[in-house]
Amino acid sequence: MLNKYSDNVYYSDYGLYDDRPILGYIKGDKYALMVDAGNSEAHARQFLAEVEEKGLPKPDFVVLTHYHWDHTFGLSALDMPSFASEETYELINRAPKEWNNDLFRKYCEEGNIEPFCQEHMAYEYPDFSVIRIALPTITFKEELKIDLGNQPVLFKKQINPHSTDGVIVYAEKERVVFLGDSTSLELKGPDWIKHPDKLQKLYDYLETLDYDTCFHCHFDPIKKANLYDWLKDNF
Ligand SMILES: [Zn+2]
Repeated sequence: MLNKYSDNVYYSDYGLYDDRPILGYIKGDKYALMVDAGNSEAHARQFLAEVEEKGLPKPDFVVLTHYHWDHTFGLSALDMPSFASEETYELINRAPKEWNNDLFRKYCEEGNIEPFCQEHMAYEYPDFSVIRIALPTITFKEELKIDLGNQPVLFKKQINPHSTDGVIVYAEKERVVFLGDSTSLELKGPDWIKHPDKLQKLYDYLETLDYDTCFHCHFDPIKKANLYDWLKDNF
């Protein structure tokens, strides 16, 4: 379901079994932006259908918050320019290009897919041969600001505990931040690893931004005033 945050900001529900992340939607006077591409073409298409059902304009662009499968495997279904950091581009480019159920088992056996992801991927993909890896069209090194029409949006690569390529998306006029998974721990093999120093850097940066609500891709929206309490066990 697509949830309304404000007249110009919407976000989809997150999934548990399929690990579908929240996808964001930010609208300006001229253009609309989708935040993250979804974990499959089916997920991306569902989001576009929900945008249409609400009578909202189709997104003109999509931005990726990081390279993980659940945020990028829907990109091949999106007929629009996509933004990502250079590092996200490189990391997606390293993903296996060929997929089917036998290859999925092989990638798992070789240790290329974390057990946590294996479970969710198997739920999302009864047939892995539908996966087509697509690369972003426009890259930036550290940050990029776009204007959707009286609606500036900043894409900022930011040190964070979850992944080295994490980008946060800040819509200053709407007073919202899309965090991707950046406040989460790092998943390495079967383990979730804390990086208190990196989390502190991320938190300190977020404190400098003027916003009311942030959206983590796998949780309910969080008010700025509650962010520290929500994160404090991970510092
Ligand atoms: Zn992630």
